[in-house]
Amino acid sequence: MPAFICITCGTQFAPSEKAPGRCPICDEDRQYVPASGQAWTTHEALARSHFNCFRQHEKDLLGIGTMPIFAIGQRALLLATDRGNVLWDCISLLDQATVAIVKAMGGLIGIAISHPHYYASMVEWAHAFEVPIHLHAGDRQWVMRPDPAIKFWDGDTLPLAGGVTLIRCGGHFAGGTVLHWANGADGCGALLSGDIVQVLPNRNFVSFMRSYPNFFPLSAPAVERIGALLDPYPFEVIYGAWFERIVPRDGKAIVQSSVVRYVAAIRGDGSAELK
Ligand SMILES: [Zn+2]
Repeated sequence: MPAFICITCGTQFAPSEKAPGRCPICDEDRQYVPASGQAWTTHEALARSHFNCFRQHEKDLLGIGTMPIFAIGQRALLLATDRGNVLWDCISLLDQATVAIVKAMGGLIGIAISHPHYYASMVEWAHAFEVPIHLHAGDRQWVMRPDPAIKFWDGDTLPLAGGVTLIRCGGHFAGGTVLHWANGADGCGALLSGDIVQVLPNRNFVSFMRSYPNFFPLSAPAVERIGALLDPYPFEVIYGAWFERIVPRDGKAIVQSSVVRYVAAIRGDGSAELK
């Protein structure tokens, strides 16, 4: 039986004879079902029409995306640690070339994902490399292809390897997670942020939203909590969810000033918008 993939969000569902009736990830206020209606593909069909591409972001950090752009269009990141390679976030296509390249680099020790929009075909990846998937338990309800490889974690932090820590920030999703990489950016530290901390096109600010496509904000306390949770961690570079969404320097200061800017706007009295 095929494991159908939602064309809009890229989530792979448990194998079924017929396509699922709906995608709960898209049929929810953070995402959307397009006007053309719910549509599905399969991993096999996707592998015929698409292929994966690679970009070395820095030493020990490889971006893996899909061409042409598929679904939300995020790229995954392969992070080399003292214990082996961690895949951060995931994509819907795992083609033969990607399996061969990742195996030649030593395979994986695990997969960690920021939030359900990037669960993608995580079970395909976990099976191919025989590794666990670390998901925050706060998002358990959004797993569309349950599998023994999925390991839920609780609390605010989970160390994955030397200098590699998952931090549950919440916000966009209850279990929204970022990855702090202490050795990144030549030892100055890097934050792999998914879109829990959203890198903006101008790269001078980040933002935080409940829904990006539907422009729905978070509350001030939720954004302040993200700032407080990241406060103990130094980082210079922020790797967002797409190849080009990278804050190259001053990442920590940019997050903190963005929290202040966001909270001032959301708590404002309306007078600033008339000046
Ligand atoms: Zn969907």
